[in-house]
Amino acid sequence: MLLTISTTHAPAGDLGYLLHKHPDRCQSFDLPFGKAHVFYPESGEDRCTAALLLDVDPIGLVRNRRGPAGEGFQLRQYVNDRPYVASSLMSVAISRVFGSALGGRCEQRADLVEQPIPLTAKISVVPCRGGEVLLHRFFEPLGYRVTATCHPLDEKFPEWGEAPYYTVELTAECRLQDLLSHLYALVPVLDDDKHYWVGNDEVDKLLAKGEGWLESHPEKELIARRYLKHRTGLMRAALDRLIEEESPDADEVEEAHAAEEEAVEATLRLNDQRLEAVVVALKEAGAKSVVDLGCGAGRLLKLLLADRSFERIVGMDVSYRALEIAQRRLNFDRMPPKQRERIELIHGSLMYRDERLAGFDAATVVEVIEHLDAPRLAAFERVVFECARPRTVIVTTPNVEYNVRFDTLPAGKLRHKDHRFEWARAEFQAWAGGVAERFGYSVRFAPVGPEDEEVGSPTQMGVFTT
Ligand code: SAH
Repeated sequence: MLLTISTTHAPAGDLGYLLHKHPDRCQSFDLPFGKAHVFYPESGEDRCTAALLLDVDPIGLVRNRRGPAGEGFQLRQYVNDRPYVASSLMSVAISRVFGSALGGRCEQRADLVEQPIPLTAKISVVPCRGGEVLLHRFFEPLGYRVTATCHPLDEKFPEWGEAPYYTVELTAECRLQDLLSHLYALVPVLDDDKHYWVGNDEVDKLLAKGEGWLESHPEKELIARRYLKHRTGLMRAALDRLIEEESPDADEVEEAHAAEEEAVEATLRLNDQRLEAVVVALKEAGAKSVVDLGCGAGRLLKLLLADRSFERIVGMDVSYRALEIAQRRLNFDRMPPKQRERIELIHGSLMYRDERLAGFDAATVVEVIEHLDAPRLAAFERVVFECARPRTVIVTTPNVEYNVRFDTLPAGKLRHKDHRFEWARAEFQAWAGGVAERFGYSVRFAPVGPEDEEVGSPTQMGVFTT
């Protein structure tokens, strides 16, 4: 994997100051997944180019991996594109090798750091899952001219089609620091590979690097969604170790959390509509006590807390980690006592009868059923509609028909790796109708999100009442 950064700024040698790497030397750095080499293929008066060459050791990647092996066939651990393409490994190398430049530090030449200079970055090669269009959508709003050359899978077999691999050139007049942080954050998003993705901290860091531009990027939702996809389907990978080894300073951590929160909120704008629809339905039903089943990180709970008409709120989830996150995000420790009395988090599973779920006016099941194995739905139905038996049950789930409208979702793919199924409107309505009939409820349906004439809305909601 090769990244070159060129400038025609005069004097071109300033690039050496900015990168903290002397143009006359070739330097090598040991990284846990291989070696990084920095050298200058050209350093003249008018033009200077610095190169970062990554020599990834694929066996080392496997050896350093902890926890369960990746998905897919076993040899994938050994036979893959990781050594050859720009991925999250490149981001790690940038932060390790060009850390000062990335952080905008240059004591000798502080003036230079803030100065936009003509820069061209060339990467050979970038995997761009989602096609070349994404390269343009990600980089052009940041002011880059983008040139991409697509590489066929095999020149001898053109019928095999194009590969997702591009040689990419990005040109702009900008601060070096910005160029590096754009690459740092966006290359892994383009790559969109799960197998060597990294832990939560690394994701936080990526988002921290987005500060100052991600908030106003027109594709921030897509960018953040791709991050979040990796968060949820987290693979314990070799890089976990790296993250532990690096001990960022406290400010950096704080910054990362703030940026993460922001980016999370940004992706949730779509989800907001869903949660608002649920709250409206709860209020219409006159519910004062609500149990949110599969509450996850507590987004609905937060809205309910903010509305005093909900007097008793309980969040339940099978994931202890999700509950911890909910507790943190809702600020349990610093909640005023009156508010604290209204809310409780409980650990439990929708597969088992649970007395704690009884006695509520309403239960919400937001984007949860598609995570349950279809044969287990019968158990879920009895737990909710027979044992807990609130007057109102609100269920939302993706409408699979709408998936064709997500242009980054490959045909036939579900929206989330953990989804066991996604239903068309007729399928959801048939299931819900059957449940209502068997358990003595009536059910009405409502679309959530922008409604498309042909395929409906992205989310479908069923409101059951006794
Ligand atoms: N309702 C939340 C989270 C949806 S993600 C929201 O809209 O943001 C699905 C959630 O269901 C996850 O938090 C997952 O841990 C939870 N879940 C999956 N299976 C479960 C089960 N058997 N019992 C309880 N919760 C479950």
